[in-house]
Amino acid sequence: MKLASRVGQVTPSLTLAIDSKAKAMKAQGIDVCSFSAGEPDFDTPQHVKEAAKLALDQGKTKYGPASGEPKLRAAIAKKLYEDNHLNYQAENIIVTNGGKHSLFNLMLALIEPGDEVIIPAPYWLSYPEMVKIASGTPVIVDTPEENQYKITPDQLRQAITPRTKLFVLNSPSNPTGIVYTPDEIRALAEVIVERDILVVSDEIYEKIVYDGAEHLSIGAVSEEAFKRTIISNGFAKAYSMTGWRVGYLAGPLELIKATITIQSHSTSNVCTFAQHGAIAALEGSQDCVQQMLAAFAKRRQYMLERISAIPNLSCPKPNGAFYVFIDISQTGMASIDFCKALLEEHQVAAVPGIAFGADRCIRLSYATDMTTIEKGLNRLDKFVRSL
Ligand SMILES: *Cc1c(COP(=O)(O)O)cnc(C)c1O
Repeated sequence: MKLASRVGQVTPSLTLAIDSKAKAMKAQGIDVCSFSAGEPDFDTPQHVKEAAKLALDQGKTKYGPASGEPKLRAAIAKKLYEDNHLNYQAENIIVTNGGKHSLFNLMLALIEPGDEVIIPAPYWLSYPEMVKIASGTPVIVDTPEENQYKITPDQLRQAITPRTKLFVLNSPSNPTGIVYTPDEIRALAEVIVERDILVVSDEIYEKIVYDGAEHLSIGAVSEEAFKRTIISNGFAKAYSMTGWRVGYLAGPLELIKATITIQSHSTSNVCTFAQHGAIAALEGSQDCVQQMLAAFAKRRQYMLERISAIPNLSCPKPNGAFYVFIDISQTGMASIDFCKALLEEHQVAAVPGIAFGADRCIRLSYATDMTTIEKGLNRLDKFVRSL
C-alpha cells in the first residue's frame, strides 16, 4: 500500500516507546515511579461532573452546532475578556475536541505548502508535526538554558522570512515549565506587529503559575497585536478534564469561520454533554483550580530542592505548568539512553528531551502523588550518582 506522503514526514511519538515499556513493567507488578504523565492526577471537580450528568439526563445527547454550544462560546468570550483582557465576541470562538485539536484546526485553516511556522525549541512535540501534516515547514529556533529556554525578540526577528506565516508561543511552557514575563511578551508582540506575522498563543497552562509569576496574553499587549493573535486554550489542564476533550480557539472572524467549516466536515460538534461540563467549569467556583495549584506548588518546591542536590543535573526554575526540564548533558548521556537506563535499572519513568527537540534534557512531570515523587527522586539521585 502506498500511504500519503504527508504520513511519512510525521514522526511517531518517541516518548511512546518508554511509556509503553513503563506500562508493561507496571502490568508485571514492578513498582515503577512514573514522572511521565502529561495530565493532572486529580479527579475532575464534582460540580463539573454533575453538570454533564444533568445534561445527559436532560437529553442533551444530539448533534449541536459544529462551532460549539452557543452558551459555551459566550462563556469563553466572557472568560477571555475578564481573565485575559481580550475583547472577543462569541462568534470569534470555536469549541474543539481539546486544545490539541484547536491547534490542528488552525494549521489546516492557515498553513499551506511554502508557509513557514516558527517554533521555539524545546517545544511541545505536536507543534512541528501538525505543521507538517498541513504541508507547511516548521522552522525550529533553539533557545538556550541560559535564557531559561525563552526565545528572544532578536532570535524571532532573525527567524522571520517572507514566507513566515505564524509564530507558536507557549507560555507557561510544556516541557520547560517556564513563563515569559509580561515585558518579554510585550517585546515579542512588537516583533509580531513590526513584521506583520501571526502568532498563536497556546495558553493551556495559564492557570498553573507559581511564585507570583504573571501570565500576560500576547493579544492583550495592543490593538495591533490583538489583530495578529490567535488564542488556543482548553479545559484539560486547569480543570483536570483531559479525557473530556474540550478546548477552544479564539481569533479573527474570517479564520474562526474557516476552522468551523473544516470542523463541520471532520469531527462536527464536540460531545454535547462534555460542553455542558465545560460551561460549569467556567461559571462555577474557581476554588478547585486553586486547590490543585496549591498541591502542585508543594510538589514543585520539593522537586526543585531534591533535584538541586543531585550532582550533574541542572534546570532553570520553572514557574508554571507541572514539569521540570532537567539538563542531563553533564552525565554525557543522550536523553533516550538516560531514560531507558533509568527505567530499566531503577524503575523510574521520565520523558527523553529529544521528543521536545532537546536531547540534552529529560522532562519530569510532578502531576503525581508525593509518595511517588519522594521514592522516584531517591532512585533518580542514586542512578545519577552511580554514573
Ligand atoms: C496538554 C496540552 C495541550 C492540549 O491538550 P488537550 O488535552 O488537547 O486539551 C496543548 N498544548 C500543550 C502544550 C499541552 O501540554
